[in-house]
Amino acid sequence: MQTTADVVIIGGGIMGASTAYHLARKGCKNVVLLETGEFLGLGSTGLNAGGVRYQFATAVNIELSKLSIAMMERFAAEMDQEVGLRRCGYLFMLDQEADLAQFRANVALQNAHGVASRIVDAGEIASLAPEVDLTGIIGGSWCSLDGLVDPNGLLQGYVSNARRLGATLRTNMSATGIDVDDNRVRRVVTSAGTIETQTVVIAAGPWSAQVGALAGVELPIQPIRRQIAVTDEIPGLRPDFPFVIDFSQALYFHREGRGILTGMSNRDEPPGFNTSVDDDWRLHHIERAMERLPLLADAGIAAEWAGLYEVTPDDQPILGRLPQMEGLLVCAGFSGHGLMHGPAAGLLMAEEILDGRATTIDIDPLRWGRFESGVSAGEYNVV
Ligand SMILES: Cc1cc2nc3c(=O)[nH]c(=O)nc-3n(C[C@H](O)[C@H](O)[C@H](O)COP(=O)(O)OP(=O)(O)OC[C@H]3O[C@@H](n4cnc5c(N)ncnc54)[C@H](O)[C@@H]3O)c2cc1C
Repeated sequence: MQTTADVVIIGGGIMGASTAYHLARKGCKNVVLLETGEFLGLGSTGLNAGGVRYQFATAVNIELSKLSIAMMERFAAEMDQEVGLRRCGYLFMLDQEADLAQFRANVALQNAHGVASRIVDAGEIASLAPEVDLTGIIGGSWCSLDGLVDPNGLLQGYVSNARRLGATLRTNMSATGIDVDDNRVRRVVTSAGTIETQTVVIAAGPWSAQVGALAGVELPIQPIRRQIAVTDEIPGLRPDFPFVIDFSQALYFHREGRGILTGMSNRDEPPGFNTSVDDDWRLHHIERAMERLPLLADAGIAAEWAGLYEVTPDDQPILGRLPQMEGLLVCAGFSGHGLMHGPAAGLLMAEEILDGRATTIDIDPLRWGRFESGVSAGEYNVV
């Protein structure tokens, strides 16, 4: 058991693993990552839908996507690990004039950041996704370069390369305390002993508020249950079926294997750590899904599960140093779109720790301090 570390990372999902890798790659090798679970990636990182998109409503999220997706494109060559990046396109379908107006503004912002998204009318939606019932749909937005990535490949690439570069990633080991003194981090208490350190990164996804509390810090990150179902094979399903989102119902579909993965967010779900499948919501979801995508009527359910979004008041992550506690940093609260931003987030955290400040992207809009001055408009494209 290592008793000192330059950096201790708490949490072994995509954020922790990416941060460990980027620190080691920049030469900081005395890094210890702690993961409660028996394996890495058993939290949200192992339970998500694998979606990757540029279509966001805030400049900083669009930039996080641009940086992350470029890193995914180079991943196999640089990391010796396939991540299965598949550009099937994301089609947002809208049935409210107010949403269409907001999406026009979002697309204009995306275009200004060099993203080739566009507004589409119902006729074009019908040709992009003829399988979908368009009742009530008045328009939408489309980006052909959005798509899917393999969450496990992404995580394993960071895990194996972090280890190869000298970082220590421990499973079955929880952070149970963060000792502070004079507003400064001194050590992390774990289930297997104590590690002296000056720098701690909270990367505990939906559990991040609990980990923050170990240091007496309040983090506004709530766990919210989200469910997914995957069908068995659907004969004739085309390989390039896009990622389709019925925005007002928070209902989505994409091709998974030879079937369809579908999710639907319950916007009334209370915060909590329950990850059992909600049978009532399951029924509601499947009925709505069959209405929108009638080919589901003949499909059987092959798998279903629930995981946790890690939600902040403005649906944007909290990144960087915490002003109230020297040596304490956060990389959490990605509000349901963190897998795709994991590559960029880890790099930015390594810069913040080793260079004093993240520079590749300006993360000021994502710093904890924004909540002190009242929550401003957050991310709109949340599913
Ligand atoms: C149903 C669903 C669908 C999603 N779809 C998408 C999508 O399509 N695209 C996308 O980009 N994102 C998606 N997401 C969101 C994405 O999965 C998360 O944003 C991302 O995985 C967060 O990663 P993380 O590393 O912050 O958290 P996690 O993967 O949850 O990792 C945190 C880890 O911290 C560990 N931990 C907690 N407390 C401690 C402690 N005290 N000591 C040690 N370890 C601790 C946990 O065991 C856990 O493994 C989805 C999420 C869900 C639930």
